[in-house]
Amino acid sequence: MLHRKRIERLREMMKEKYIFGVYVTSPENVFYLSGFTGFGDARLLIGRTNAWLITDSRYTVQAAEECPEYTLVTANAENIATLEELLRKEMICTLGFENERIAYRDYKALKERYDFVQLAELDGDFTELRDVKEEDELFCIEKACQIACRSLYEVLDDIRPGTAESEIAAELEYRMRKNGASGKSFETIVASGKRSAMPHGVASDKKIENGDAVTIDFGCIYKHYCSDMTRTFFVGRPDAELESIYRIVYEAQIAAMEGYRFGMTGAELDAISREIITEKGYGPNFGHSLGHGVGIEIHEGAAISRRNTKAIQKDTVFSIEPGIYVEGLGGVRIEDLVVAGENGLRILTSDFDKKMLVL
Ligand code: ZN
Ligand code: ZN
Repeated sequence: MLHRKRIERLREMMKEKYIFGVYVTSPENVFYLSGFTGFGDARLLIGRTNAWLITDSRYTVQAAEECPEYTLVTANAENIATLEELLRKEMICTLGFENERIAYRDYKALKERYDFVQLAELDGDFTELRDVKEEDELFCIEKACQIACRSLYEVLDDIRPGTAESEIAAELEYRMRKNGASGKSFETIVASGKRSAMPHGVASDKKIENGDAVTIDFGCIYKHYCSDMTRTFFVGRPDAELESIYRIVYEAQIAAMEGYRFGMTGAELDAISREIITEKGYGPNFGHSLGHGVGIEIHEGAAISRRNTKAIQKDTVFSIEPGIYVEGLGGVRIEDLVVAGENGLRILTSDFDKKMLVL
């Protein structure tokens, strides 16, 4: 039922663009449109009235169970002869494909073998489809966020002088699994002391020292949906400048949350936090965008950045994560995951407070 609706939404878009068929090759979009969880080993062909899932014999039982909306074709997923047969039989002469995701091998086959088919780039359309989350998707993302928050509480005692960043990351990942996640949604970032000035400093063997800022950016996966959040803690009394940086980042983050209005563009929302940070003199130290969409992938769709002049759609899930990084001193980032609504944002990571915490 769920996937039938998604296929229908795709078909509406196909109609508008006069596209007769769509070839789906990326594991994420295959999963989104069919529910197939054998990531990487299936292709979809969605026509105006029929839809096929091409996978090999290892997966036929699984695919029959997971993808009732599709006619199963047993063949190697990359088998281009199978696709050709279907395209000819269904007289598909315009074929949409994922221009930013397709493997070169698949693209080459499409280009060379099917000169009777006109190709249409559809990557942006998939992004728009997936930006708007359904209730079931929101449930899974929120659950992933709750697991992440709870797990972070459970490792707070480990964030103390002498513990290595990698030990904290390992414990956090273990806790997330124990609390119901199937895994981490990306490489856990634990960056302490001067390393916290690296926005993407994955956990190293550096030991936590007194006076360190410790930035933990992490997430887990629940039923194929990701969470993402960041908290920065201080171990012992922080440096005065870092403490003031914390207050600025906190203020900038809250301002974006409260300043959000329905219909705003990613650029407008980004500007709210950026102006505050720039006014305080740290503009050049906030080098990344304010946020990004999150869902089946940790980075998907909706960029909350200066370049995004599109309005944020209702029920889009995205992060708000301003940060200030000073080389040689350290950095602070605070990140929450939110859902865009008509009357404001709903915070999914509110189970873990973001006021300054000195451990
Ligand atoms: Zn993050
Ligand atoms: Zn993020």
